[in-house]
Amino acid sequence: MARETFTARLDKKTCISESAQCYHFEFVLDTLPSFPFVSGQFISAVATDLNGKQQTRAYSIASAANANRFDLCVNRVEGGFFSNHLADLTDLQPGGSIQVHGPHGHFILKEPVTDSILIATGTGIAPMRGFAQWLFPENGPDRSNGKEIWLVYGTRHETEIYYHDEFVALAANHPNFHYIVTLSRAVEDWTGNRGYVQEYVAKIVEERAARLGIPLPQPAPDPLIPVGDLRSDIYSYICGLNNMVSGVRDKLAGYGWDRKQIIFERYD
Ligand SMILES: Cc1cc2nc3c(=O)[nH]c(=O)nc-3n(C[C@H](O)[C@H](O)[C@H](O)COP(=O)(O)OP(=O)(O)OC[C@H]3O[C@@H](n4cnc5c(N)ncnc54)[C@H](O)[C@@H]3O)c2cc1C
Repeated sequence: MARETFTARLDKKTCISESAQCYHFEFVLDTLPSFPFVSGQFISAVATDLNGKQQTRAYSIASAANANRFDLCVNRVEGGFFSNHLADLTDLQPGGSIQVHGPHGHFILKEPVTDSILIATGTGIAPMRGFAQWLFPENGPDRSNGKEIWLVYGTRHETEIYYHDEFVALAANHPNFHYIVTLSRAVEDWTGNRGYVQEYVAKIVEERAARLGIPLPQPAPDPLIPVGDLRSDIYSYICGLNNMVSGVRDKLAGYGWDRKQIIFERYD
């Protein structure tokens, strides 16, 4: 069955990193009264390339559900078709639009909300912004249930920390939201964290286990509990390129985490 596609009108486009050629996009679906989705899901964008071939790419929604609007965060991939098509959108057609279908995907928060470690690199921050907006809405009740939410965000350079001010403000206003940025290729005078996200995830897991008196590696779940009934008090949500996702999954598996506790979205 053909999927229903919608025209998404570009309302606003902002370059959020010149060096990484990364853009924040705000789209409106004028023909729909609302566009319901769960934070963390993605849309599929469809366009025809120069050879007349239809191309489809997935893009995580970088916002929480908000009437008939959604945001994206996309960086140019060298030689890539769709990322450049999006990045050039207003340049080629002022107030341009794209065709989309969706929402799709299962990269969503477990409910009820538990302690959670959100881990992203690069534009993998997109669904994390959606999670953060849903958990801590500007106008509306806090949905975090007082659980500890860590956002561990890795990028190469300081100029590639997308939405930094928003996350700093969120952490300042919500004591249970912890924002940790680490740079893998920081300049000499960078005074913040350095290295890969795995190290900071390890620190969170070890400190939390020590605080709560949980043995590490964590004991395996009781085999008598049916898999469908297994509930954990902490989950991790990982988004980015495969190398990083695998690295973090291995790290958490080493702490005895059950694979059901590790939810991930790979971009490549
Ligand atoms: C579920 C899902 C959600 C995604 N969400 C986002 C998002 O929010 N923001 C975003 O920027 N991207 C996201 N992506 C990646 C996106 O779908 C495209 O793969 C990316 O924009 C490149 O597409 P392209 O047409 O420009 O490149 P293509 O023409 O498809 O590929 C060109 C070359 O780049 C390589 N390549 C493909 N993807 C990447 C990548 N992500 N990074 C580096 N090299 C790559 C390919 O191997 C190929 O060699 C997501 C992918 C998935 C599966």
